[in-house]
Amino acid sequence: MSAVSPTQDAAAGGWIVLKFGGTSVSRRHRWDNIGKLAQKRADEIGGRVLVVVSALSGVTNELTAIADGADDSRQRFEALQRRHHEFLAELGLDADPVVGVHLASLRGLLDDPRAATRSLDWQAEVLAHGELLSSTLGAAYLRAQGLDFGWMDARQWLHALPPQPNQSPWSQRLSVNCRWQGDDDWRSRFAEQPTRMLLTQGFICRHGDGGTAVLGRGGSDTSAAYFGALLGARRVEIWTDVPGMFSANPREVPDARLLSRLGYAEAQEITTTGAKVLHPRSIKPCRDSGVPMAVLDTENPDMYGTVIDRSAATVPGVKAISRRNGVVLVSVEDIGMWQQVGYLADVFELFRKHALSVDLIGTSQTNVTVSLDPSENLLSQDVLSALAADLEKIGRVKVIVPCAAITLVGRGMRSLLHMLPEVFSNFGHERVHMISQSSNDLNLTFVIDEADAEGLLPQLHAALIDSGAMPAQETEVFGPRWREINGAVRPRPEPWWRGERERLLQLARSGTPRYVYHLPTVRARARQLKAVAAVDHRYYAIKANPHPAILRTLVEEGFGLECVSLGELRHVFATLPQLDPQRVLFTPSFAPHAEYQQAFALGVTVTVDNVEALQRWPDTFRGRSLWLRIDLGHGDGHHEKVNTGGKEAKFGLPAARVDEFMDVARTLGVIVTGVHAHLGSGVETAGHWRLMCDELAGFARRIGTVATLDIGGGLPIPYSADDEPFDLDAWAAGLAEVRQVHPAFALAIEPGRFLVAEAGVLLAAATQVVEKDGVHRVGLDAGMNALLRPALYDAWHDIVNLQRLDEAEDGMFDVVGPICESSDIFGRRRRLPAATTPGDTMLVADAGAYGHAMASTYNLRALPDEDVLDGAAD
Ligand code: ADP
Ligand code: ASP
Ligand code: MG
Repeated sequence: MSAVSPTQDAAAGGWIVLKFGGTSVSRRHRWDNIGKLAQKRADEIGGRVLVVVSALSGVTNELTAIADGADDSRQRFEALQRRHHEFLAELGLDADPVVGVHLASLRGLLDDPRAATRSLDWQAEVLAHGELLSSTLGAAYLRAQGLDFGWMDARQWLHALPPQPNQSPWSQRLSVNCRWQGDDDWRSRFAEQPTRMLLTQGFICRHGDGGTAVLGRGGSDTSAAYFGALLGARRVEIWTDVPGMFSANPREVPDARLLSRLGYAEAQEITTTGAKVLHPRSIKPCRDSGVPMAVLDTENPDMYGTVIDRSAATVPGVKAISRRNGVVLVSVEDIGMWQQVGYLADVFELFRKHALSVDLIGTSQTNVTVSLDPSENLLSQDVLSALAADLEKIGRVKVIVPCAAITLVGRGMRSLLHMLPEVFSNFGHERVHMISQSSNDLNLTFVIDEADAEGLLPQLHAALIDSGAMPAQETEVFGPRWREINGAVRPRPEPWWRGERERLLQLARSGTPRYVYHLPTVRARARQLKAVAAVDHRYYAIKANPHPAILRTLVEEGFGLECVSLGELRHVFATLPQLDPQRVLFTPSFAPHAEYQQAFALGVTVTVDNVEALQRWPDTFRGRSLWLRIDLGHGDGHHEKVNTGGKEAKFGLPAARVDEFMDVARTLGVIVTGVHAHLGSGVETAGHWRLMCDELAGFARRIGTVATLDIGGGLPIPYSADDEPFDLDAWAAGLAEVRQVHPAFALAIEPGRFLVAEAGVLLAAATQVVEKDGVHRVGLDAGMNALLRPALYDAWHDIVNLQRLDEAEDGMFDVVGPICESSDIFGRRRRLPAATTPGDTMLVADAGAYGHAMASTYNLRALPDEDVLDGAAD
């Protein structure tokens, strides 16, 4: 143990405050971690440590039920007693001497006369027992481990502020604020406590009347912050069950990003708008007294963490999306008083009367709508009814409950609006009751029905990243994804072009822009699909990349070819004259009549997707066998422009017209031997194909002559570091199951992108490097004429400076093309070597699908050349 007195320690190294939440104190090994961490911090700073703890997880919920007068309060008490006894046994301690007093006093409260009226002071005392128990058993355990720990009652040190004007009695007792402005006398008395490390309760404090008060649910964080501010601590560390604050609740959004560093203002906004990881009131004391905060994971003490302090970089953009449930909307519809001076004052006076603190406000000429946050108010039915009765005197009242408030938080929200269309379109299916934008330009909130918010956050989070509104590439702020931290991410394979750099640079010397295709990668992808046993027939959708070498490679690998135009059919037979037409599909959309005639003449399998074609050209179809493309009524895909199902899509016969189609087919002697659906490209949900198979099998049975179910393509590839490789195993397993359910039918697929996207790169030369108003741009000699996907779909392609592949990517550039269109941008805010210079060879990755195939000579720029690399074939 240290030879210096605790007071000298404090003077030398100061204090550090560590707060451990409910899950962090509920297991023995976590207490071992707490002990180790406290000792380590004390040693690191050469000072003293205050540990603040919550109740064991779930205990405050039980105590709340008891405080609320639950009928089974006694059983709940018994269960709590058992739980603490069991935990003490796990800790190897005798229960009675350690927690006997607190359990007895909790039991005493059940028989207390105040229990009948459930007075607020009695409720506070009941609630305080969770922390009293956990801190007592923790201190006993740590001392038993030989650590220099003292226990203290937080109520001696934290004092509730006197009631504020208009504060409800509920919040004056059960959601209080404490004094935290520094006071030398307080500090020196505190430092006189004899042990180097101290353990105390979060959540509880002394009320002005000498009784107990509590800080509101989750308030232990704020206790730690108060102590941090009062002590002028070096740091307040919040230890919990996640390795930091994330861009969304990671349990709801597994792709949420760790926020490595935040300023106080953004952290405040994220917590206020729903991120439970920190109590919203914990930021201000630290902010005002300049104490840095950290959020860390008790189970993984060395992992990441979020630092909140003054020196965080100010990066514009959305940092987080959060959600609050249980929000109440109250709307007051004008009954002709709007023009009168003081109308709004009258409305808000009534909220004050009922001691309700208003959160969001929306007004129109005839309506005032406000939201009430359940964490700041006691929103009981009684309170709301009384409020509504009073408001009725002013206007027609509507109370909408329960609502969810979904908030985007980040600096400069107003200048991000143009990036949010995808976010807005996600709300397209919900009824948005209210949109509110904060005057501090830090948040944008949507209030919708709570039920509609279910499952919405992962989609919104993805849309924020895709649109660039959440600048996840900014490494000063954003860290890894939650899933990645948990090892649940399949890494992207190392791209082939890294190993072919020299050959690529040499090819670039013979002229840029040029596409280069790597046949070994095409073969590898083909073989991955061949290994999926449930699939009987594989076709390559040649529209993705009709380069002859690729067609030959895939035909050699056993793939058939799928064409969508007569041009493609001709190209296929010109490239592969010996190809059996049976291995070719023709699946056009709105093709001219002659293309069907010629396709039949070539002997390929024709797919039709409407009744009108049969009716208009009966002679072309009479007596033919063909496949039918059905629109299953729903679509999917990486962008709305590639969603090919549903009413808005031009593809496919609506399911409701299949019988009509079959009637016409029968009169023409047409035999339908295959049914086909393709709902979109870049679909990431493996369950999607299973469902599709089931639906198609249903139609196949009804039709009677079908042998093949064609489930199209749409397999995605991981374009960005944020994407994972498609889970082929899960996909294969799903298909195997569904194949067993429908053994009568063969299964066909027709992927394009999956086979060729990663095999192709676009090489371009940097033309100019220009700075304008702080934005640095690298121009390439390839633009949307050479690769349309970024302009058309906002698609992401990785871009590297191939010349300087080994240099640090220490610059930030927009990468643009030479076309006179403002959408001629390959990527914004991309990391590239700062030394990037005109003449450097740049590489745009994953351009093998829909790259050259969609290229044009717009602006009369020549089409890029194409090369093929083979060689290292396995
Ligand atoms: P403790 O018991 O340690 O106080 P809490 O349950 O109060 O822990 O807070 C931690 C939890 O907060 C996490 O397990 C997580 O589910 C939730 N949470 C909500 N939003 C976020 C966010 N943006 N970042 C991290 N965690 C969040
Ligand atoms: N035990 C209290 C609660 O759950 C306080 C806390 O854990 O922060 O609300
Ligand atoms: Mg908490």
